[in-house]
Amino acid sequence: MKFTLERVHYMPKDLKPGVLYVSEEFDIAIHLCACGCGSKVKTPLGPTEWLIEETKRGPTLRPSVGNWHQACRSHYNLDGGEIIWAKKWTPEQIASGRRLEEERRRAYYDALDRKHRGMLQSIWFWLKRLFRD
Ligand SMILES: [Zn+2]
Repeated sequence: MKFTLERVHYMPKDLKPGVLYVSEEFDIAIHLCACGCGSKVKTPLGPTEWLIEETKRGPTLRPSVGNWHQACRSHYNLDGGEIIWAKKWTPEQIASGRRLEEERRRAYYDALDRKHRGMLQSIWFWLKRLFRD
């Protein structure tokens, strides 16, 4: 199945298979599971979530989509509009996938925090320099 990208403001009630609906306002993409089971797959977009890249061939979604909470448990990559099937996840992989996701988020917010502290520090050095003379 080829996927195409459709930009929307609000998500339509009836989703068409093979369409990746993207709402930039709400930072979310939704599509019907590529296996055909009819489940709606929501992928939040953002630096610690999923990223969408529009290519000439079709949309690319990163990282892979793992529908471990759906009955079908399908796992695939959407790459240039093409579905590339990946191995179904074992319960251990599901658990480590969740852990990785949390770590990724933590690392991101830690980095933001460090950047923030770094900024405060340079303001502090600047102030110190002002008062030194
Ligand atoms: Zn499915």
